Amino acid sequence: MPASIMKDDDDGGPRFAGGACHTFEDKGFEFDTGHHYSPYLNPANPLHVLVNIAVGGKMDFIRMLKDDVYCDEVTIGYAPGETKRSYYLTAGDVKTWIEDLTRQFPQEEETIKNLSKDVKMGWLKFAPFILIRMIPQWLARFILRTGLIDLITNYRKLNRRTTKEVFKDITKRSPDMSMVLQLLSFDVVPANQWPYPFWTFVAAIMSGGNLYPKGGSSEYSYRMCREIVERGGKVLVNALVDKIIVDPANNRACGVTVSKGSRNVDVYAPIIISSAGAKVTIDSLLPSSALNHKENFDWVQENRKHINNSAHTYFHVFMGLRGPAEELGLYAHSCRFFATNESLGEIFERYEKLTFEEAMEAEIPMITFLSCPSVVDPTYEVRHPGKGIVELLVCASSQWFTPWKGEKLMKRGDEYEARKAAFGHKVVQTLYKLFPQLEDRVEYLNFGTDLTCHDYFNRRGGGFTKLVHSPDRMSLEASLCLGPETPIKGEKIVSNRILE
Ligand SMILES: Cc1cc2nc3c(=O)[nH]c(=O)nc-3n(C[C@H](O)[C@H](O)[C@H](O)COP(=O)(O)OP(=O)(O)OC[C@H]3O[C@@H](n4cnc5c(N)ncnc54)[C@H](O)[C@@H]3O)c2cc1C
Repeated sequence: MPASIMKDDDDGGPRFAGGACHTFEDKGFEFDTGHHYSPYLNPANPLHVLVNIAVGGKMDFIRMLKDDVYCDEVTIGYAPGETKRSYYLTAGDVKTWIEDLTRQFPQEEETIKNLSKDVKMGWLKFAPFILIRMIPQWLARFILRTGLIDLITNYRKLNRRTTKEVFKDITKRSPDMSMVLQLLSFDVVPANQWPYPFWTFVAAIMSGGNLYPKGGSSEYSYRMCREIVERGGKVLVNALVDKIIVDPANNRACGVTVSKGSRNVDVYAPIIISSAGAKVTIDSLLPSSALNHKENFDWVQENRKHINNSAHTYFHVFMGLRGPAEELGLYAHSCRFFATNESLGEIFERYEKLTFEEAMEAEIPMITFLSCPSVVDPTYEVRHPGKGIVELLVCASSQWFTPWKGEKLMKRGDEYEARKAAFGHKVVQTLYKLFPQLEDRVEYLNFGTDLTCHDYFNRRGGGFTKLVHSPDRMSLEASLCLGPETPIKGEKIVSNRILE
């Protein structure tokens, strides 16, 4: 799919298909804006079947390799006075995961063995979270309300234990290993709040390794759109859904009002599926008459308890480099970098509280993602010969850009632009500590704040995921409440993954 460049948007609303799987092209470079790799598409993972159905089985995935080995890297110690050390986890299964950890942290052999028992059962441990959505709602509510669920599974008890608690002793004895363990997760912030069953599930998935979608992440949206069109459907882009039309007489969703420029068009359909996420759907798409309808009232109240706890935000850096790719010394495998091995959750809690000025003086604690599709994907060189790219995500406080929240994209003024550029260049300087060879190769730089992300994806909060993965969010009650079924007839909400 030809990637569309991020453009100024006078009307507001999404201008392209794909959400966080959108890519954009500028000055001969092409960048992924959100999705950087797909850990769950390993053929050993049952979830890959669902994705393959959605994309018509027509996507190819590339294994992310380091020296022909399929692996994940965690490097710690880029802060001044620290010694850099790297740890690698070879992709394979839980067995390779245990072997790699034990080789690198032999002093923790016993602990690793114990943890691995849980990771092996990761799917099973997390299954109640998914299954509660699959049984009839009345039954799910009944077993939750009466506590019968606790006779069937100990999920609720386990879910209250966070990774901070489980890894407490490891963090004291082997802080590097604690970082490596917590970084098996995608949404690492705040890593110390993850409920343990969820961690075991993600660790089980991540041990299979990461894959990159050949052709870039926009392949997802391109292939899905093709599937829809081939089955007689239509895909509208640059069409903002203003409201879901709900007939108050029978509490049935029957269509959507779409704004096309200055026009509003009502589109009717027997089933309405909102994939904008629960927060956007409830806060801005459902009319107040539907929110206040007696049949929906409890569901809305229950949802509101869960949807306001947004995940932490990120700052994006898009860097274009003079190639060829093999001279740039970039990584094809997935990697994350930490300034120190200080407890992850605590670093973030502290960093998030810094003012912008303080953050400009402080060390950036972590590069959450460093992604280099130009070396992972051989089609990149064909599409953009002689170009290399680096995409970075680093943690940033949404407070730093809050003063410009209500303002329009690309019209936020010089002060905002200066602040964004200042922080962006600080991130770039941090990157040079790890990849000094890039310094005189940079041809293109572009930065994105959480406001940029929300403008383009209409996310209304959150970063990598929309909601924070806290014990509350991962509770069975929240799973049921945030599931696709709603009391409004004909209306379904599909969220950002099962996990939103
Ligand atoms: C920065 C970032 C990095 C990520 N990296 C990865 C990764 O490496 N691996 C991974 O597996 N996942 C990653 N993700 C998550 C992944 O991209 C999402 O899970 C995926 O995009 C599917 O999400 P979704 O469709 O639920 O939501 P989104 O991608 O947010 O799509 C929602 C869509 O709804 C549209 N929309 C919203 N409101 C309206 C409206 N009123 N009218 C019309 N359209 C509307 C939006 O424009 C958007 O197109 C990342 C996400 C982000 C933000």
